[in-house]
Amino acid sequence: MPLPLELPVLQRWGCQSCGECCKRHLVEITGDERDRILSQGWEHDADLKSVRTVVPLGRWSRRWRLNHTADGSCVFLRPDGLCRIHAQFGEAAKPLACRVYPYAFHPSGKRVAVSLRYSCPSVVANHGPTAKEAEKDIRRLAKAVVPDRPRETPPPAVSTGNRLDRLDWPDFRKLIDALDESFADPAPGFLRNLLGAVFWVSLVEQASFEKIRGARLDEFLSLVRPAAAAEVPQDLSEFVAPTAVGHMMFRLLVGQYARLETTADLNHPWRARWRNVSGSIRLTRGKGLLPPLRRELKPVPFEALEEPFGWPAAADELFSRYVRTKVGGMHFCGPAYYDVPFTEGFFALALVVPATLYLARWLAAADDRSSITNEDLFAALAMADHHHGYSPFLAGSSARSRVRALAKGDLPKLCVWYSR
Ligand code: SF4
Repeated sequence: MPLPLELPVLQRWGCQSCGECCKRHLVEITGDERDRILSQGWEHDADLKSVRTVVPLGRWSRRWRLNHTADGSCVFLRPDGLCRIHAQFGEAAKPLACRVYPYAFHPSGKRVAVSLRYSCPSVVANHGPTAKEAEKDIRRLAKAVVPDRPRETPPPAVSTGNRLDRLDWPDFRKLIDALDESFADPAPGFLRNLLGAVFWVSLVEQASFEKIRGARLDEFLSLVRPAAAAEVPQDLSEFVAPTAVGHMMFRLLVGQYARLETTADLNHPWRARWRNVSGSIRLTRGKGLLPPLRRELKPVPFEALEEPFGWPAAADELFSRYVRTKVGGMHFCGPAYYDVPFTEGFFALALVVPATLYLARWLAAADDRSSITNEDLFAALAMADHHHGYSPFLAGSSARSRVRALAKGDLPKLCVWYSR
């Protein structure tokens, strides 16, 4: 029986051979993959004969990864953006991690939810076939990563305060569907939809789900969703600016998304650590110049990013597709996102929006521009989503408590402030 998959119906994807994934990711491989690559005879290849293609993950590690060149690219990446292993031996000869990217598969009751990583520029730009058109390929990949008879895992907890209040999957899916529906109507605009969703998920955070199940849950959702939409003022300028503390916590969060952990850092861990510590000190102070966290984010004055930069034409469609793909693909809470509950996962996902807008402003200001373009936004979202759910720093207790603290007051203000 074919695996019951939930496809990301809003999303197109096809590899454009840009090679970005092979420059940014550290690819861990299994012992079998290591043996396969070592038996492919790369020592006879003119470009690789003096290169170690596979190296230990860490100095004392017994795990393995693909080796990288000084600029962080995988040693198998050709200058034309193609993979040498793929070109010479076919797709199946590549490590599984390379074949699956940018798809991600997550448990969703008796089904498997499929999502995508927006660190891939082609996903952000929505290039390629639809998920329906690519269904055969997605099924083939799912078979490689999902066990034949996946064990039904319990759904994520609902809220931080009531981690033991677990719904069953049919009820948990009601929360997921309600969240997805909150973004389905484009008429109010993405920002209003986001603010409404933040309001009703905040009510879910305060509720106890011991007795709200089945028909009562339907009733609860049918009440809180319209009430939350009505809470969003007609004139969004009624939102006051974020507080100074909220701003500071937000800058530290953006710092986590802006950092570039290249594989070259593995050889100079102290240099990378110092860059991140000194960057955090500057982001905490928020005065003077932003820290040089990566080449394209030049050190511009902090105040420059607080001016209005506008809302690019692509923002509504891009952010709606992003949030709905992550929500429908169960790519924002539970096992796909540091095992956090539904509410905290959604608040963290909502914060990606102002963080992306801040990074887009930074890119524009670094280029001496005072408005952001669609291209700034695309590049910023690829940067942020590279870390979202994958960086160990975002899983740490300080990053998680920052998200929870921002959700208690500054989150809607940050969304509105950086959308100006
Ligand atoms: S093995 Fe090929 S697909 Fe994988 S990272 Fe290297 S170049 Fe990219």
